[in-house]
Amino acid sequence: MAARNDQLAAKNHALAEALTRAGKELGKAKAQLMQLAQPPLTFATMIGIEGSTIDDRGVRHSSAEVIAGSRRMIVPVAANVNVARLACGETVTLNDSMVLVAQRGVEQIGMLRYIREVLDDGRLIVADASGNAVAVRRSSRIASMTVSARDRVIVDTSSHIALEVLPGEDVTDLVLEETPDITFEDIGGLEEQIGRIRDAVQLPFLHRSLFERYGLKAPKGVLLYGPPGNGKTLIAKAVAHALAQGKAAGSGVFLSVKGPELLNKYVGESERLIRMIFRRARERAASGRPVIVFIDEMDSLLRTRGTGVSSDVETTIVPQFLAELDGVDTLDNVMVIGASNRIDMIDPAVLRPGRLDVKIRVERPDRHQAEQILHHYLTDDLPTQPGVDVDDLIETMAGDIYARDTHRHIADLGDDRGRWTTLYLADIVSGAMLKNIVDRAKTKAVKATIESERNMAMTPELLEQAIDDEYRETTDAILDVDPEQWSRINNLAGGHAVRLRSAAEGRR
Ligand code: ADP
Repeated sequence: MAARNDQLAAKNHALAEALTRAGKELGKAKAQLMQLAQPPLTFATMIGIEGSTIDDRGVRHSSAEVIAGSRRMIVPVAANVNVARLACGETVTLNDSMVLVAQRGVEQIGMLRYIREVLDDGRLIVADASGNAVAVRRSSRIASMTVSARDRVIVDTSSHIALEVLPGEDVTDLVLEETPDITFEDIGGLEEQIGRIRDAVQLPFLHRSLFERYGLKAPKGVLLYGPPGNGKTLIAKAVAHALAQGKAAGSGVFLSVKGPELLNKYVGESERLIRMIFRRARERAASGRPVIVFIDEMDSLLRTRGTGVSSDVETTIVPQFLAELDGVDTLDNVMVIGASNRIDMIDPAVLRPGRLDVKIRVERPDRHQAEQILHHYLTDDLPTQPGVDVDDLIETMAGDIYARDTHRHIADLGDDRGRWTTLYLADIVSGAMLKNIVDRAKTKAVKATIESERNMAMTPELLEQAIDDEYRETTDAILDVDPEQWSRINNLAGGHAVRLRSAAEGRR
């Protein structure tokens, strides 16, 4: 009897389990069906509560003013929604009978606008990049915030509500202003380039009436191009310094910006920044001081139209820049110098006659130029060993850096046909690298001096160690570059490399 009971109980248990399982499955299927049958919800922006009444049974009935797309509506609010927390500017959803059913928080995207004026009742007059003004109301979130003209706000343009205030970004954050004291004499191995830029810029500037007499026009700008770290910025600074010489007005002004930093995620922002830079240049020049506007990495900002990378760059930034550049004509003291290592990417309109039509290539130093650069950093006043002068040190250094053998082998670049080009340190050396090597050696000398408590000389061994350190670091770092881009920027392997392998791998 007991055994039979046990059997029945087990059977019961199994049955009950099966039932629960079936129930769960049914529930799931039901939920899925519900989901399939659920109509879509419409997104809308909350403007305000229109009315709120409580009926005999104590149930609250509220209605709200919302904007969905371009439709402005008054809709009932579902009972489960907390009316007290429905704030102006908030995103809400409406069901298919246009009942407000849920809150979704405040949207964080929208158009960027500049505040022109704050009205007494709190509304804002805002303007877009082309200066079109419109009045907007503030979302509840920023209703009591102190805002002022020139602040930026994110505006939901369909509901005309300012959703969020952004920390003010001024052109001063992006433009570096300095009065450089670098002279052409501080630059090594670039006599030819310096000669050209002096003829193009300095000559017409200092001898304006002579140029007029012969009917010659000064260029508006110059483009310096070539691989990074070889003196483009130095030359531009020296120009700013040189232009001020012989002028009663004092020092020259160097305004510099980096192309990629001007590229802003907000529509119209880059154009505004470009306008502001030129305005600043004009202000500075008004006092008679020559001003150089230096735009580094110019290719990123003034990319060839039609490359499709960014519609912003193509359609509005290039024309805005050209308009400002064309306006430079009347501003005697302003000159634009662009720098780029991808001249092929710059919109040809920028480089046409009458614009940045003087193009000067600044290449990597060859061995002779490297020696001239090294002379600026390894100077006669440094402690050396008896019988070894600085010239000897420089010659030894250059010999080592420009050696095309295994101990200066950096990597190999491969093209798409499987051909490999061997890269040596000499192929990628730059003025900046030369200075860096000397600095490394000087640091070693300083450390040794501290340890031994007597002035350590700059020896060939120290310099060789410094070159070794630089070589090792470069060899490691190069493995992270994108071979295609890198070979184009550096004009190596015909600019067509697709692969890169380490020196060690290449030797295997
Ligand atoms: P680029 O603008 O071409 O990228 P920079 O002019 O900024 O390069 O050079 C970076 C640094 O390298 C300079 O500040 C300077 O210390 C050093 N340097 C580069 N080229 C030279 C040069 N021809 N003569 C002296 N120093 C140089």
